Amino acid sequence: MIFRQFFDSTSSTYTYLLASRQGGEALIIDPVLEKVDRYIQLLNELDLRLVKAIDTHLHADHITGLEALRERTRCITVMGEQTKADVVSIRVADGDTVGIEGLTLEALYTPGHTDDSYSYILPDRVFTGDTLLIRGTGRTDFQNGDPRAQYASLFGRLLKLPDQTLVYPAHDYKGDTVSTIGEERAYNPRLQVKSIDEYVTLMENLNLPDPKMMDVAIPANMRIGLAQQIVAGHGWGVSAEEAKDLSSKRDVVLIDLREDQERRKSGVIPDSLHVPYPDVEESLKSDGVLGQVAQETGKRLVFYCAYGERSAMAVQAAHAAGFDTARHINGGMQAWLRAGGPVT
Ligand code: FE
Repeated sequence: MIFRQFFDSTSSTYTYLLASRQGGEALIIDPVLEKVDRYIQLLNELDLRLVKAIDTHLHADHITGLEALRERTRCITVMGEQTKADVVSIRVADGDTVGIEGLTLEALYTPGHTDDSYSYILPDRVFTGDTLLIRGTGRTDFQNGDPRAQYASLFGRLLKLPDQTLVYPAHDYKGDTVSTIGEERAYNPRLQVKSIDEYVTLMENLNLPDPKMMDVAIPANMRIGLAQQIVAGHGWGVSAEEAKDLSSKRDVVLIDLREDQERRKSGVIPDSLHVPYPDVEESLKSDGVLGQVAQETGKRLVFYCAYGERSAMAVQAAHAAGFDTARHINGGMQAWLRAGGPVT
């Protein structure tokens, strides 16, 4: 496995880059906007293709690199379903998996620092965001933070992982880089409490100043959605209502860009073709599945995903490849279901 830990000294944030092999797919956790050039450089040097970018929670102390990475690499953005960020490609719930070639992370809902905090588990390590830090825990005094929820996330969930599990947090302010669950259980001062009430009292008396970037970072991190208006301005977006009419037409093929897990959860529009988003560009080539469908049968391509972000990127790729009639469903499956569209 390729594993890199980056540090942003302004916000003391750790960012993690993961891949199963050189030349393969990569995933990044908690990217920082100012460091995006560095990530892209390393991706190029290691011949990696970034396919997913995750934020463990809505950050208050730095501006996320999610939007910039999506603009530059067309990667899929991932956050928890509770997030207040306007648009991400995939919203995960507890127990969902986030996969790339050769690697599968399990999402563990660990609220407390914020109500949208998730940890991500690999067999030998866990990315704890700001829920569990090295010899510390994330503050719980803003963004719907809740020390009771955090106690449950720590004692009921993270500390249940095997002792030897490596702990990779989203921040460190003292220069530590990694710990283990066993080490934190034994030596983390915040975890030496005897009851939930003792933990709540401890957390409610930290009296920390607000993060310097907070008034800038939180609003910025809530508006990371792809400018779908740009795609709409070209006339490439259709409403769910329009899509319902289109779906019954013989010369239209609907293309589902989502992953199997999402398809199982929310259902599929009848008769749609499944092309997972990372495969779209390849598929649009003249010998690819979509290239063949569009060229040989003259069908119009109509893309959809969960919320309209991946499909907005796919429709741009389709037009760039010369498919002038390609469209996508604004708002994706969420809008389709709201419009009462049929699913199987
Ligand atoms: Fe945080």
